[in-house]
Amino acid sequence: MPLSAWTWIDSTPEGLVAFVLITPATEASSGLGALAQAAGLESPDRPLPSPGLRLVLHDSYAMVILPRAKTALRIPTDEGWSDFVRRGGAVVVIMGERSLVHDAERTEVESYLLQSLLPGGLWMAKTSLAAAHPPAGVRGEACIVCGRGDGQLDPVGYAYTPTTGAPLGWAVVAHPTCPTEEEQ
Ligand SMILES: [Zn+2]
Repeated sequence: MPLSAWTWIDSTPEGLVAFVLITPATEASSGLGALAQAAGLESPDRPLPSPGLRLVLHDSYAMVILPRAKTALRIPTDEGWSDFVRRGGAVVVIMGERSLVHDAERTEVESYLLQSLLPGGLWMAKTSLAAAHPPAGVRGEACIVCGRGDGQLDPVGYAYTPTTGAPLGWAVVAHPTCPTEEEQ
């Protein structure tokens, strides 16, 4: 499914938060509701859950791994967003049911969010780099998406484990065939 994705940092009552919005890129695509619910995200009228979403950072993109749905979403990021996340900043992942064109401006994204607050329009979850990865995954011995160690495994970026000092990055791998929905 072609996806659209946006990242931004905003101040909230709980401090600065790195947001990700992911939507279908075209009206012909089915919405992300079924995938979001399988992954443990909740609608905005429910308490914000922490369903164990994991993040892998690359220079120009991030993978949001949805372990409960056994899939990953690849989104473009910029340096400021990645730096904030790499330092352990809070992340809120928002998935939308309706499509939004991938080059929508900030004001269009804001009105999309406002118009999607009705039930069934948005699903949300929080996470951070501190979400645990399986040990074989951070050692690069198993696919960071599905957890299996067989077959061809390609480098896909870095997972980070929390440390007391600088975040410690682990080069991680994934099957080229493992389910990864990509931003168009
Ligand atoms: Zn895999």
